[in-house]
Amino acid sequence: MKKASLAPPPVPIGDAASRLAAIDALLAKAAQSGGHGKPALIAISKTQGPEQILPLLEAGHRMFGENRVQEAAAKWPPLKQTYPDVALHLVGQLQSNKAADAVALFDAIHSLDRSSLVQALAAAVHSAGRQPLLLVQVNLAAEPQKGGVATDALPALLEEAAQTGLRVSGLMTVPPADKDPAPYFALLAKLAKRHGLPLLSMGMSGDFDVAAALGATHVRIGSALFGPRE
Ligand SMILES: *Cc1c(COP(=O)(O)O)cnc(C)c1O
Repeated sequence: MKKASLAPPPVPIGDAASRLAAIDALLAKAAQSGGHGKPALIAISKTQGPEQILPLLEAGHRMFGENRVQEAAAKWPPLKQTYPDVALHLVGQLQSNKAADAVALFDAIHSLDRSSLVQALAAAVHSAGRQPLLLVQVNLAAEPQKGGVATDALPALLEEAAQTGLRVSGLMTVPPADKDPAPYFALLAKLAKRHGLPLLSMGMSGDFDVAAALGATHVRIGSALFGPRE
């Protein structure tokens, strides 16, 4: 089934804070329909400046996501001076040579996806003495342009992470853009359960309701909150 034939979640109107409240209500309803708790909403603030982010901070929102270490390192330290309880999630691909910066800046990393990064993160965590929450990104449809470990390589990667002393808490995926996301979200939930991992990062602006109904614990929402990115 093509995603275009599915009803997308209604895009709320109004300012970012009222969109946040509207999306939160949709998440609660969708999660309840699937018999799950409401997922945490990560406001994906990539490409957005402080003037777009501040209204959400002022409205009390504290969980934000970025896809680039350098962009986040430039943007967030000043904001964190005023809002020290912000939780920052890295949702984009991570280069091994930025592992130490990522461990210093982020509270969660959703894009652990290969052996070299396991080793780099283990070294960075060891020297920093702090470990962000870690999620392994899975490339369920084996799309070459996307990050994520191949589904059949997931068990070995989890095993390697455990051997280095890293604690992995969950799985993350970005399903193919032109397909019904539901089977991919259901598969991610099944894999997480099989490996005893409690966190499920799935669902974006176009499909957060589907993800919430299938047990997402974290949804990553950018354009439905901030408007289209330039
Ligand atoms: C940009 C991004 C999102 C948010 O996408 P929207 O469609 O704007 O909600 C979520 N997850 C990842 C990994 C992203 O890069």
